Amino acid sequence: MTVKEAYLAAKKALTFGGIENAAWEADILFENVMGKRRFVLQPDDPLPERQAEVLLAQAEKRAGHYPLQYLCGSWPFMEIELTVGEGVLIPRGDTACVVEKALSLIETAQQPRVLDLCSGSGTIAAAVKYYRPEAEVTAVELSEKAMRYLRLNCGHTVTAVQADVFAYQNALPEGELHLIVSNPPYVTRAEMEALQPEVRFEPEEALSGGEDGLDFYRHIAAAYFSKLRRGGWLVFEIGASQGEAVVSICRQVGYTGIALSQDGAGRDRCVAAQKP
Ligand code: GLN
Repeated sequence: MTVKEAYLAAKKALTFGGIENAAWEADILFENVMGKRRFVLQPDDPLPERQAEVLLAQAEKRAGHYPLQYLCGSWPFMEIELTVGEGVLIPRGDTACVVEKALSLIETAQQPRVLDLCSGSGTIAAAVKYYRPEAEVTAVELSEKAMRYLRLNCGHTVTAVQADVFAYQNALPEGELHLIVSNPPYVTRAEMEALQPEVRFEPEEALSGGEDGLDFYRHIAAAYFSKLRRGGWLVFEIGASQGEAVVSICRQVGYTGIALSQDGAGRDRCVAAQKP
């Protein structure tokens, strides 16, 4: 098979599977399998048979809506590259606005102490550490599978802890943290029934936030309040329709300066709340 034939066969399989950006994804898979971009080769160059087979097998898998990011094994987020695979939530561009908000709130703190809850692949923890290398970041994750990715992505620079956020507060001293940040599972029971086919391949425990999607917000906002310093911040990623509910949860606990902000697509995506 030539480069051109393999590429076109991959693209065709993707198109047939209803993948929207089939041409772009075929190129991504090509690069993933070949270790180089298609345009550095000539269309008539022959591909080693084994690699052509792997490319077509990956295209078939993707045509069944298996996530592209899992096939690639790593995915960019902001300026970093994260290892991902089955068992861990894929980093989403939407989360950048949460990291940016969090960073802006610790800008003036010296050696800020930061806690990332429900860390998953460590996306937020790794990004905070990348942009604020002197921050002391702890990342907490319950899932054994996700922990593997978390350790790979930032285990050498942040403290990775395997624990349940519904109990972990008991292990923390009072009043020390400058920032708690979390992208917890927040998909509602009804939304879980109607997930995109790609998202169904992602771990349910990284998505499902209980009946109304708010279980983690209620717990984290209340149970970790006393762990923040005075003036410390809690920053949540939220689902686009959860702004009002999460603002109200934070207000009831006693946070002030509560602010709702939007992602790149203009959807509500982040709630920041300060301990007075
Ligand atoms: N943003 C994810 C989605 O829409 C959900 C992530 C989460 O629950 N934290 O599928």
